[in-house]
Parts: sequence; C-alpha cells; structure tokens
Amino acid sequence: MNINKKSKNNENFKNDNNKSDFIRDIIREDIKVGKIPDGVVTRFPPEPNGYLHIGHAKSICLNFGIAEEFGGRCHLRFDDTNPVKEDIEYIKSIINDVKWLGFDWGKHLYYASDYFDQFYNYAIQLIKDGKAYVDSLSTEEIKKYRGTLTEPGKESPYRNRSVEENLELFEKMRRGDFEEGECVLRAKIDMASPNLNMRDPVIYRIKKATHHRSGDKWCIYPMYDFAHPLSDAIEGITHSLCTIEFEDHRPLYNWFIENLPVPSKPRQIEFARLNLTYTVMSKRKLGKLVNEGIVSGWDDPRMPTISGLRRRGYTPEAIRKFSDRIGVAKSNSIVDINLLEHILREDLNKRAQRVMVVLNPIKVIIENYPDNKVEYLDGENNPEDSSMGNRKIPFSKVIYIEKDDFREVPPPKYFRLAPGKEVRLKHAYYIKYKESIRDEKTGEIKVIICTYDPESRGGWTNDGRKVKGTLHWVSAAHAIPVEVRLYDHLFTREYPEEEEKVDPSGKSFLDYINPESLKIIDCAYGEPILKDVKPGDIFQFLRIGYFCVDPDTKAKNKPIFNRTVTLKDSWAKIEKKLKK
Ligand code: ATP
Ligand code: MG
Repeated sequence: MNINKKSKNNENFKNDNNKSDFIRDIIREDIKVGKIPDGVVTRFPPEPNGYLHIGHAKSICLNFGIAEEFGGRCHLRFDDTNPVKEDIEYIKSIINDVKWLGFDWGKHLYYASDYFDQFYNYAIQLIKDGKAYVDSLSTEEIKKYRGTLTEPGKESPYRNRSVEENLELFEKMRRGDFEEGECVLRAKIDMASPNLNMRDPVIYRIKKATHHRSGDKWCIYPMYDFAHPLSDAIEGITHSLCTIEFEDHRPLYNWFIENLPVPSKPRQIEFARLNLTYTVMSKRKLGKLVNEGIVSGWDDPRMPTISGLRRRGYTPEAIRKFSDRIGVAKSNSIVDINLLEHILREDLNKRAQRVMVVLNPIKVIIENYPDNKVEYLDGENNPEDSSMGNRKIPFSKVIYIEKDDFREVPPPKYFRLAPGKEVRLKHAYYIKYKESIRDEKTGEIKVIICTYDPESRGGWTNDGRKVKGTLHWVSAAHAIPVEVRLYDHLFTREYPEEEEKVDPSGKSFLDYINPESLKIIDCAYGEPILKDVKPGDIFQFLRIGYFCVDPDTKAKNKPIFNRTVTLKDSWAKIEKKLKK
C-alpha cells in the first residue's frame, strides 16, 4: 500500500473503514459484485496552472483516503495539456502540498503529457472509424453552429470530409502547416444532442507553444474532455472522482471509453465542490489576487491555498479532519469557515506550546518588589499535555501588561486591573493597583504602580482569597521584541463569489477586499523562550490566540508570528446552542 502515515501517533490518521457516503457505497457495491477484481484505483488530477487550495484538499483527502481504506492505490497525475497556462513552479508546489497533507503516491506519479503519443493514436483511430473530422470553421463559427440549450446545433460543412482527407489534414495540423485557430479536430457525435457537450466537441487544437515536458514535439494539444477519460483508462483508474460541474460531461467521458479500444473502463462519479465563507475558491480568482498584488503571493497567510494555510499555521491533521467532517455530497454548498477554524483550534490546543506575549504593552512597576531581584517561575507548557513539561519564566520589578487590561474607570463586570482591584499575574503573584503616572504633556497614563503579595507566589494564596482576573505579562528586562501579524478574512462578504454574480452595481469580488485583513504589530514583547524560534513553530499566546512563526523570521532576523486563529470559538457556541 502506498499511503504513508506521516504522523503515526495522531488519532486523526486512524484508518476508518466505517466511513459511509454515496461514493464509498458505490465502491463497496462494485467490490461486492466483482467489478474490480484488481482493487480500487483512484487519482488526483490537478492542472498545474496554479497552487492548490483547500477545495483541492477535499479532493485529495477523498481520493487518497478511499484508496487507503479499500487497500488500493491513488495516482498523482498532472493534467498538463495546456502549455500556455502551465508552469513547473506549480508542479513543484503541488507535489510539496500533497506530501505535506500526508499522502504518498509511491511510484504512481504521472503526467498526461506522457500519453501524448497514445492520445494522438486514439485520435487517428477515431478518424479511421469515421468518428472524428477536421473542421475548418473559425472558433466563432463553431460557437455559433453549436446552438443553445433550447436550439439544436448545426452541422459544420466540413463534417463529412472523407477519412483520407481527415487523416491528411490532421497530419498537417500535427506538422505545423496550419496556424492556431485555422482548424481543429472534432469528435463526430450528434449536433442535435440535448447535451451541448455531445455536439461534436473539439478534441484537438493547434497551440504553437513549448511544453514544459514535451518541448516543441507537439503543436497540437488534446482537450481536457478527451485527455481525461483516456488518461484514466490508460492508468487503470477504477473510480474517477470529479466535481459536480463535470456531471454533464459524463456522457462524453463514456463515449470516448466506449468508442476506443482502451485498456480499462473507469467510472466517473461526481461530488460537490467545497466552498468556504469569506473567501473565493478558484485558481483563476486566486491568481488574480496574486497578480494584482492584493496579497503577497500564493502562500500569503490570508489565502485559502494549502501553502497559505500552512504558512498561517494550519496543520495537515486539521485539514484532513475538516475534510472528513464535511464529508461528500452531491450538491454544492458553502461551508462556514468557523467550522474549519473550530477543528483547527481543537488540533492546536493539543499541540501548541503556551507562552505569554504582550501585544500592546504598558509598563507596570511593582513598588514593593526588590529592585534587582529576578525569580524564575514555573509555567506549564501545555495544560492539555503534561509530557510537554514546564518552562522557567523570569519575573522582576518592572513588567509589561496589555494596555487593555487596565481601566481607570472600569465598566461593570470588569475583572482586570483597575483602581482598588487585585488581579493575578499568570504563574506569578497577585498584584494590587496603587497609582498611575501620566505623561506631563499628553496626560496619557505611562506607568502603573502596583504592589504585590509575596504570599501569592505561583498565583494563589492559602487564605482562600478570591481573585477573578488573570493577566498575562512579560518581565521588561527579559522581554523579546517580536513582530506580530494579525489576520482577518480577506473579504468583507460572507459569500463573495455569490454576491459578485448578483451585485446590482456590477462590482467584482475584488471590490469586497477587507482593508483590515492584515494588521502588523511591529513590537510586541514575549517571553525569552521566543528567542530561538524557527519557521513553522506553533504557539498559543495565552489569552490571545494561536500563532505560527513566519518564514520571514530568517530574512528579517527577528521572530515574526502569524496569527493562525483567535481563541474565540464561535462554532463551539453554535454547536452548544444546537445541543440544547
Ligand atoms: P479551480 O476551479 O480552482 O481552478 P480546477 O477544478 O480547475 O479548480 P484542477 O486542477 O482541474 O482545478 O482540479 C484538480 C481536482 O481537484 C479535480 O478533480 C477537481 O474536481 C478537484 N477540485 C477542484 N476544486 C475543488 C473544490 N472546490 N472542491 C472539491 N474538489 C475540487
Ligand atoms: Mg480544471
């Protein structure tokens, strides 16, 4: 078996043979009736014209997951039939992303371009059988002749060329004797079919472009609808799982399989695309965000790409779990991003090292603490996992707390620091407010003076005194300056793609960009353990959220953190309500 489980200890990776959905039911039935004696073979067939997004992750988890559950195999096949749009950079990123998700295709890495010779021979076969012809109509004419959903198409005047003439013209196409658009090869099916895909679809067109693998060997390239079923059949794919928009293409898929002497007969099954709220999910649109400089690249942490999610701090386990949780269905829907974030929090909660970081600092001087004393207090690294141990946190007379954790005039039910109030410093001591020192010019509070209770070391006392508020803090003399990048949704609309379609003023999704989607805090203060972080490390900043070290950390020579997700779990609240 080719499926390599990257995280062996992780419960999310458990092989679950009891999963049930309409696709798995079909496969179980096919196995039962003996249709697939050699086992289940699936494939993930990306076109290398962009980076993968979380929608692709659903397809990857489904294809590789099914192969794993049924003891079969899953191929990674690049559908590289359009050299104009494709690039090696995308191939590399796709390979990297699928591996990162935890899947392994073993030796089954393929390229549709490897089959160009076979595709060509199949095309010749169709011509010889009188089932394909070279059409000399222009692209616009072909479109016009195609008809509409309510009107049948019209046959091309070139439809009845002889086999000999077609063979000769097709050979000329291949040799480069024609210019792009001068002619195409079409399957001869039925111009009156109610299914537009069956109205003599184009199967080869001229493109005088260099292919990243086959170089200049070809100047004609097969269309997706032709190349895809044939690639599946050549590789012995048993179940070709694709998204719902290909449902109308299935008769054509089957037509090629039935009309050519292919080595196997794959079955196409469609499932719903994944869409998420507050984002767009198409390579074309994501590419636009990159090209127009709205984001810093395909791996910008605000992008729903796998590389963006990784940089943001998502784990492969969380994405796989999400994919399991949403399951597969037959009709498209839009999944609430809060569900994805909820699953991510559950995962990070178990693995993230805790640390204290003050984002918006204000100084606190503890008046009765000895001037030069430093104590190293114990802090648990993860209350969910005692095996992660403790760390030492330096405590001294001058510390930073969040500006927001102090109010001169506190609102009702404010349990943080305020005149007359006592609060707990996490892992440290109780402190009590004494007075504030103001900036003479602005009148703004610069420093807060407090006293501490030496009997409250560790954050509790024997006298049963109740202290409601607990604050995070950092010793000023030991604080590590760090940069923090706070992300929010890239779009202000819950359904940017849907709204674009019906926008009365003709706005596009680009008009819904959230101007507040990135806020940078240049200088936050963290505990000393943040000195030696490396890209990809994940932390929970106490009371604030989960953060992941950005790769820029190396280049900029200072720790840079991306906020992965806040601690506020609105999905958990929804679930709670539903259970009530
Ligand atoms: P996009 O529309 O984003 O450009 P695509 O379908 O053109 O995507 P491909 O590279 O052709 O991208 O997709 C590879 C596989 O991933 C296909 O089998 C496709 O059905 C599947 N896929 C693409 N987008 C989604 C999605 N949102 N949800 C589930 N599967 C998807
Ligand atoms: Mg596609």
